Amino acid sequence: MAHSEAADQCASWLNEFAERLAGRDPKRVRSLFHEAAHWRDLLAFSWSIITVEGGPAIQDMLARCVEAANPHAFALEDGPLPGAQGSLEAWFRFETTTANCRGHIRLRDGRCVSLFTCVVALKGHDEKLGAARDKGVQHGAFAGRKSWTERRREIQRELGVSTQPYCLIIGGGQGGVTLAARLKMLNVPTLVIDKHARPGDAWRERYRSLCLHDPVWNIHLPYLPFPDHWPVFTPKDKMADWIEAYAQIMELDIWSSTEATSAAYDASSREWTVTAKRAGETVTLRPKQLVIATGMSGAPHIPNYPGATSFEGLQFHSSAYRTGEGFAGKRCIVVGSNNSAHDICADLWEHGADVTMIQRSSTLVVRAATIMKFFSSKLYSEEALKAGITTEWADFIAASRPYALLAEAHKAVYDEIKIHDAEYYDRLAKAGFMLDFGEDGSGLSMKYIRRGSGYYIDVGASELIMDGRVKLKSGVHIEQVEANGVMLSDGASLPADLIVYATGFDPMERWIEQLISPDVARSVGHIWGLGSGTRRDPGPWMGELRNMWKPTRQQSLWVQGGNLQQARFYSKLLAIQIKARMEGIPTPVYDPMVFGAELNPRHLA
Ligand SMILES: Cc1cc2nc3c(=O)[nH]c(=O)nc-3n(C[C@H](O)[C@H](O)[C@H](O)COP(=O)(O)OP(=O)(O)OC[C@H]3O[C@@H](n4cnc5c(N)ncnc54)[C@H](O)[C@@H]3O)c2cc1C
Repeated sequence: MAHSEAADQCASWLNEFAERLAGRDPKRVRSLFHEAAHWRDLLAFSWSIITVEGGPAIQDMLARCVEAANPHAFALEDGPLPGAQGSLEAWFRFETTTANCRGHIRLRDGRCVSLFTCVVALKGHDEKLGAARDKGVQHGAFAGRKSWTERRREIQRELGVSTQPYCLIIGGGQGGVTLAARLKMLNVPTLVIDKHARPGDAWRERYRSLCLHDPVWNIHLPYLPFPDHWPVFTPKDKMADWIEAYAQIMELDIWSSTEATSAAYDASSREWTVTAKRAGETVTLRPKQLVIATGMSGAPHIPNYPGATSFEGLQFHSSAYRTGEGFAGKRCIVVGSNNSAHDICADLWEHGADVTMIQRSSTLVVRAATIMKFFSSKLYSEEALKAGITTEWADFIAASRPYALLAEAHKAVYDEIKIHDAEYYDRLAKAGFMLDFGEDGSGLSMKYIRRGSGYYIDVGASELIMDGRVKLKSGVHIEQVEANGVMLSDGASLPADLIVYATGFDPMERWIEQLISPDVARSVGHIWGLGSGTRRDPGPWMGELRNMWKPTRQQSLWVQGGNLQQARFYSKLLAIQIKARMEGIPTPVYDPMVFGAELNPRHLA
């Protein structure tokens, strides 16, 4: 199709869409979509993060949301792009009553197969960037003038003591600090508390060999990208130091060494009461909004093996593992076969230990270089930058794809990967390693989105397993821990001086159970996962990550987290939702999977 014809087709679809929306006729809008179409909306129409699927669902969302949203001023952003399977794609801008928005269409045969709509800014509440930045000084002569630093110290002294933060974030890892930075740019008084002594400690305290698996182009923090010399894969201590420096440069208000111990919401005063231990004292905070940013995993999970207390060697969870130093010549068992298990096996081997991995069930393994070639390089790489795809732009492209369609697309890529790395996978299988590619073959990202575990990004340990330098016992589990080793389910005994349990973590909802109450945790429900019906991601199908970055069933309670890409992109959406509530901007929530079909009035400001 000629470029001009494609442009006409996109422009005419968008015009028709805008006109029918303005005519408030959901049925006629629906007919612009294929019956099996997907619409991913990030706040623009729904004030939530939802994907509606199919004609009836699209019509229902419009019927309930279009009046309040009042979408208008649609304009194509740039020329159309050819999409997959003969589709056409185009980006556009539009406005709602309260926000400036961006959207993306995929058309096939003149009708929409997927639509993406997303708030980018609240009208009248720009972030303090560019022309809207602080002046830094007031020129003139003023008696009793306070310097920037003096004003800053005053805020630090007062916040949480004589003035209350509007928003309290529990957890100052990357999730907490990125959200705090976003809120700062929107003038929302925010306090972060973290039980660690220094920002970045969550990375600092991980095992010494850890390097990020995502390349630098994918892990920038908002407003302050890494400099051009930054290594492709960031070592964990560098990441820790960057987070600490970031917190300082962004002038975030963080109380370190402060552990939240309980939180309760008072519906009448619309306020939280949060108690925390700070420098040995109990302090009480009363924010209007509470964000849980305590990490993607709950407490370390160690299966209850019979006989574990009788073990005479050392045993601990992978989260307590720091280094293989001191284990030369020692017999070390690593239970588990995901990322941490592999990294720890390799680190122990590098320190001269005799290492055995115990693999109970199959694991997805994919080489880091293969991920770069087939996935990351398309959006987050030097080549992508050269093609004009900045990190911000890449985030929008990634967000424009509904999860339901992503699984299908990734299956096709993994079919290619299996051929590309066939010899590699053969060698792994010959070593006895039990492999999978996800229950439906959709690969690593989908496993991450569905359950956050079950994979290893190979940065070297698989080679050790293939050639036997790290021994492998697969298809077995520990039957019994004995004084000097373990007995396996196949009857074999393995002697051990060290057992590392790389057996994962409790689910995130445990944080809510512990901090707030089991009732609130039950009401909010499971956090993370799409409801794909695959292992550890039970249905029903939600179409979006459960409870992440969007209104939960507990008024004024939010969950922030995920990897660095998610922390960066979704922190902005979460900050906008919190800012809107602070400003009293109406935010009627439409999220049928969470609140039922009606607009949720509790979220009306
Ligand atoms: C081996 C490995 C490799 C990884 N590689 C990558 C990668 O390449 N790219 C990527 O993006 N991600 C990667 N991650 C995953 C992910 O980014 C991290 O898990 C990340 O740390 C999550 O950030 P967070 O801020 O949500 O949680 P965390 O970093 O876990 O921070 C949570 C904070 O909450 C605090 N906290 C908890 N409870 C309380 C309380 N009651 N009161 C006060 N504070 C509390 C903790 O002290 C902690 O500082 C990797 C993780 C691992 C383990």
